[in-house]
Amino acid sequence: MLEIHRLATRAAFFAPEIERLRAEWAADDAHTAAALDGASVLAGHCELCSQATRFTLVGGADPNWRESQTCARCGLISRVRFAFLLADLPALRRGDAIYMTEQTTPAYFWLLRAGLDTVGSEYVEDPTRRELLSNYIRIQTGGLESRLRHEDVTRLTFRDARFDRLFSFDVLEHVPDHRAALREFARVLKPGGLAVVTVPFDVNAEASLRRASIGPDGTIVHHVAPEYHGDPVADAGCLAFHTFSWDLLNDFRGAGFDAVELVLGRDAEGGLRGLQLAILASKSVR
Ligand SMILES: [Zn+2]
Repeated sequence: MLEIHRLATRAAFFAPEIERLRAEWAADDAHTAAALDGASVLAGHCELCSQATRFTLVGGADPNWRESQTCARCGLISRVRFAFLLADLPALRRGDAIYMTEQTTPAYFWLLRAGLDTVGSEYVEDPTRRELLSNYIRIQTGGLESRLRHEDVTRLTFRDARFDRLFSFDVLEHVPDHRAALREFARVLKPGGLAVVTVPFDVNAEASLRRASIGPDGTIVHHVAPEYHGDPVADAGCLAFHTFSWDLLNDFRGAGFDAVELVLGRDAEGGLRGLQLAILASKSVR
């Protein structure tokens, strides 16, 4: 059973009852990791697949709970499955649409296979690379799609209120002007629409860290040691411009979202161990 806690502020995250829960979970995870004794597979039940499955871990004695617990059936890691479960996908009706800021990933292909009306995009400026990725998409989708869609998340080409759900997984930290991206996310969502966003999130910090920015001459200015993350569509890693913290929730509010929360989730049996966090932001109907 998925247990979730919706937290609107840093204070809520550090409230005694939430601190106690997190300590309990951490102890349970440590116990589980120790009992695995080097094995990398946990039996369980995937809520997304609605079936018994096995979850594969990476990280050895200290499992990377956020980036693994990969379900043997859907092939999705815990962070992505958690985000999909929060989005209440079964509530979507015929004609409802989803936007996702990725198009070459297992998560995107899963949405397509689930028969959901989904538009995905990547940020790829190099035409040769676009061509290669288009081929990859054609193969992965069995010809259902054959063109990589290039989008700049700070200047989306979609009309207003086009989508019912929006997913963006570990993308925003790579966008220099992340507030412009959030305004675009709010713009393309329908009233009543829901965005589920993950980013590496520093729960301890009071404010986000600006790691780098774009200088007046267009070059990158580093404010701290550069940090690069793996990028599925680029060989070189992708520079992180931010390490986000709680003020990011205010940036969502400032961009036009009404209810914005950091959701903490747990389903030990369901392959959602560790600190599962996602931002859930909705636009009210008005
Ligand atoms: Zn699954």
